[in-house]
Amino acid sequence: MMQNLPSEMFGSYVFNDSVMRERLPKATYKALRKTIDEGLPLDPQVAEVVANAMKDWAIEKGATHFTHWFQPLTGITAEKHDSFISPTSDGRVIMEFSGKELIKGEPDASSFPSGGLRATFEARGYTAWDCTSPAFVKDNTLYIPTAFCSYTGEALDLKTPLLRSMEALSKQALRVLRLFGNTTAKKVITTVGPEQEYFLIDKSMYDKRKDLILTGRTLFGAKSPKGQEMEDHYFASIKERVLAYMKELDEELWKLGVSAKTKHNEVAPSQHELAPVFTTTNIATDHNQLTMEIMKKVALRHGLVCLLHEKPFEGVNGSGKHNNWSMSTDDGQNLLDPGKTPHENAQFLVFLCAVIKAIDEYADLLRVAAASPGNDHRLGANEAPPAIISIFLGEQLTDILEQIENGGATSSKEGGVLKIGVSTLPALPKDSTDRNRTSPFAFTGNKFEFRMIGSSASIATANYILNTIVAEELSQIADRLENASNFDEEVQNLLQEIVKNHKRIIFNGNGYSEEWVEEAKRRGLPNLRSTVEAIPALIAEKNIRVMEKHGVLSRVELEARYEIMLENYSKTINIEALTMLDIAKRQLLPAVIYFTTKLAESINSIKATGLDVDTSAQAELLKEVSSLTAAFKKSIGELEQTVEKASEMEGDSYKLACYYRDVVFVKMGEVRKIADKLETLVDKELWPLPSYSDMLFSV
Ligand code: ADP
Ligand code: MG
Repeated sequence: MMQNLPSEMFGSYVFNDSVMRERLPKATYKALRKTIDEGLPLDPQVAEVVANAMKDWAIEKGATHFTHWFQPLTGITAEKHDSFISPTSDGRVIMEFSGKELIKGEPDASSFPSGGLRATFEARGYTAWDCTSPAFVKDNTLYIPTAFCSYTGEALDLKTPLLRSMEALSKQALRVLRLFGNTTAKKVITTVGPEQEYFLIDKSMYDKRKDLILTGRTLFGAKSPKGQEMEDHYFASIKERVLAYMKELDEELWKLGVSAKTKHNEVAPSQHELAPVFTTTNIATDHNQLTMEIMKKVALRHGLVCLLHEKPFEGVNGSGKHNNWSMSTDDGQNLLDPGKTPHENAQFLVFLCAVIKAIDEYADLLRVAAASPGNDHRLGANEAPPAIISIFLGEQLTDILEQIENGGATSSKEGGVLKIGVSTLPALPKDSTDRNRTSPFAFTGNKFEFRMIGSSASIATANYILNTIVAEELSQIADRLENASNFDEEVQNLLQEIVKNHKRIIFNGNGYSEEWVEEAKRRGLPNLRSTVEAIPALIAEKNIRVMEKHGVLSRVELEARYEIMLENYSKTINIEALTMLDIAKRQLLPAVIYFTTKLAESINSIKATGLDVDTSAQAELLKEVSSLTAAFKKSIGELEQTVEKASEMEGDSYKLACYYRDVVFVKMGEVRKIADKLETLVDKELWPLPSYSDMLFSV
């Protein structure tokens, strides 16, 4: 059937360029395009015409409502639906949608995290249409991507800084490109393709696990006899039920213009991955949010639940998100493509070195983008990159950089090879080097892959940080090269300096090894092991300076984000601890007591027969379980006390977060350990929670 062809389906619910071209008067289309492409302000009259066309189109697609769709600092999306209806004097309704409604919304901002930016008495918040990300129809509603800010103009969302950072990077990258003789590019965009990992489990299992329902991860669960040790799931053939899910997921995403491309099984049982074709950072971010939402929704239709938590199950791999990132001109030149001509190679090396310097100088800031309570279970746990940020460049590039370092401007040994801005470097074929799976920031042919982000996180934070810090290095480079009397020589000096001063960030070895942790320490690289350790980088002076300089986030906006992240950490651990206590006290403890009673009864009734029967097995089991039960009860009490103490702590949010990490979280580990041991002893029929093997092999 025709409508099942991906080409027919793709973007069919998106108000995209071809729809705009078809439905808007030529002048309106042109004006809107100018706003989208060149960031020129939008004329209210143009907005009026666009709104009307959008409404008509949306109604044809079944929409009755519209919503300003935004990304508050909760990390997920928010929406409030308004219908198009407008009553007329004769008691009917007509469908209306004005330019004003398209451009601006006023959701009550008081119930979104603001980190103190917005006192409740000025609860007003604004959403502003982001016309660079296309509107779409979903669930009978026209979705309008928007940025969200406070009454006083501070960003209350993830999109605003992202858009600001894209402008900053474009501005600085253009300066550098001009120096290399590029006069045609109007804009430099950053491109992103995020690979999304997820788990699927049967819904009937999920429904029996309050921990999964309330916290997204299992707080209890003894190891399954079979985990991922057979390495038989990665890229394995996909089961029918999962295939059916993936097919529908692809189709739903295609309709919304999300270019879902690759799908495969991941390392852990029941774990999978989806990757789209890359696009501009802003759209990629919106699309990733949509992808996560649709993944969950479609799963339910298949009797499945999609888990996006970074670590739903202990003992098997967790889920992350690989953020493939590059820079490209508006006419399609990938600036991280090593290229073929020598002239382009020098330019490539400048951009490459800008990234290297940025990552070295702001590793702590980038680390924040991967910080979340869920991701703490992954980073550094031999399944995901360590918490130490380093760059993998591969043999070939590393070798070239070494040559640059050694071939100073005065060296003529290389026959001027490296002296003149590396103009005779070999063209690098794509994928010229082996892959390295253990590096947090790996060069992969013509882009960098940032692999630390958690599976449930928005990719916005990582990308606005990346864009900003690279913009900063490019601005420094431009400052210097614009004033150079001998351009080639200055390029050579610059590259040499960067390599010399920042090569410590380059590491091509095994990032999972103990030796690397030691080596990184010797090199002076930060190792911010936990979320709580990472968060303060948000308000480190050098980081505030770079964010402010490029107009991405102000000091107050950063301080707000610092507060919100700490709060979020404490709240998350608190909910986990309370959920754990609830399950322990009301499900596990009663089950264990029932089991011991059964054992005792069994011993008694056997003895009552008067026969000479050996009941030592029952007796030993009874003793073992009973003493574990006592220990369990005790540790539950201790956990309860720590949670209570935390609730009484006031003031410093950093101290509170430390307490949750060092005391509450540690106690949770103790409670779990005993419970998991008990699970291996108690009758399976009596254990109230589905086991790890039930869940991991349920689909
Ligand atoms: P991997 O081998 O790392 O699993 P995948 O094919 O799953 O690779 O994903 C690679 C991702 O990188 C895709 O989303 C792809 O679109 C994206 N990508 C490719 N080129 C670029 C680029 N220039 N900028 C950003 N992302 C890119
Ligand atoms: Mg990858």
